[in-house]
Amino acid sequence: METAPPQRRQNTGNATNMFQITLTCLISDNVKCNKVQRAFNLAGEILTGSLILNTPVTVNATFTDFCQSFNDCPTNGFLTLGGAAPARTLPLKDDDGKTRFFPQALVKQMNPQSRPQFSSFDILAMFNSVANFWFEDDNTPIRQDQSDFTFVILHELVHGLGFTSSWDDYINQVPQALTPDVTPTGASGGSGASFQFSEFAFDKYMVIMSTGQKMSDITAQLNAFSTGAGAQIRDINAFANAFARSPQYQIAKNTFNFAITKGAMGFLPQGETDLNNAVLLETSLNPYQQGSSISHVDFATFTKKSDFLMRFLADRGVSLGDAIVQNGNFSGGAVGPKLLRVLESLGYATQANPNPIRPATSTTSSSASSVILYHSVFNSVLLVAGMFFAIVMGQK
Ligand SMILES: [Zn+2]
Repeated sequence: METAPPQRRQNTGNATNMFQITLTCLISDNVKCNKVQRAFNLAGEILTGSLILNTPVTVNATFTDFCQSFNDCPTNGFLTLGGAAPARTLPLKDDDGKTRFFPQALVKQMNPQSRPQFSSFDILAMFNSVANFWFEDDNTPIRQDQSDFTFVILHELVHGLGFTSSWDDYINQVPQALTPDVTPTGASGGSGASFQFSEFAFDKYMVIMSTGQKMSDITAQLNAFSTGAGAQIRDINAFANAFARSPQYQIAKNTFNFAITKGAMGFLPQGETDLNNAVLLETSLNPYQQGSSISHVDFATFTKKSDFLMRFLADRGVSLGDAIVQNGNFSGGAVGPKLLRVLESLGYATQANPNPIRPATSTTSSSASSVILYHSVFNSVLLVAGMFFAIVMGQK
């Protein structure tokens, strides 16, 4: 009965857009600024149709020249199209007893009754006005040298929803050792606190594909330093220096090798035990690329597949609607079946999984969870600052 329309875009449902976009458009072309705003609205409707959201997600978006604003200029034929991250993450006790940082957009959905002191924005997103974007309301078909702006927004908003690993090199200028984020311990954080390695919600599901080892086990090994030789250190630079001389540093260096080895890391969705069902992550980039490595799906595996959206490199000359049709024509549209499993694992409700398993704190009394949430207001200020997960376009 169902014949796919040639320009299938996405089932946006009949839902109202649950994404509230505050756009700062730093170009003088008002016509283009209006197209940018409309593309945001469309992307918000698409994600609203893929998820069940009970609380609006707020997005602070900027459209600006990356080369002028951030000195992020085209290099080697590559151009950064956009970047995004959760504006704030909040520590919650996960159902395995470990505390992880959850994106505010998700925490809001878990317990809308409690009203912790949220940051006013859930997602920070930047888009490069220099890029050659095609907009759905352009009157011409997309050209070979253009990228569909809605595609790019969707990709970035998914990062902002929590498709973000904290595993990165926080110590060296040239990446060579991988750890989760370094955060202050304890409720108050700030000065006087010691430090530890802290995972994001995403990291709970990360595995080493060759052995099935959970990345969280590696975090526990690394934190032997935080609770041991590093426990008395109160200065973050001293912590990093001492860690680099510790026995645990070799673990971080070994882990880094997985990040530059194709097929080495995966995301094993909640409830899955078969590694064949893991979503391969982007570990084929060598040298390692901050913002592109790890927090994307494996480029080769998911090209021409329904889960094409979260590859680090955007397609050129293909509109989002055509990409959906050409890459498997998934009935759910741009948010592919595996990506839905990832978002459900994090705790987002979907039509197929309206009651996802969530951190224990979300089901305890609202007072208990708000205490933890209030702590995070102090804890997470430094977290993800300057950490953006990008999508780039090859210009070759
Ligand atoms: Zn990305």
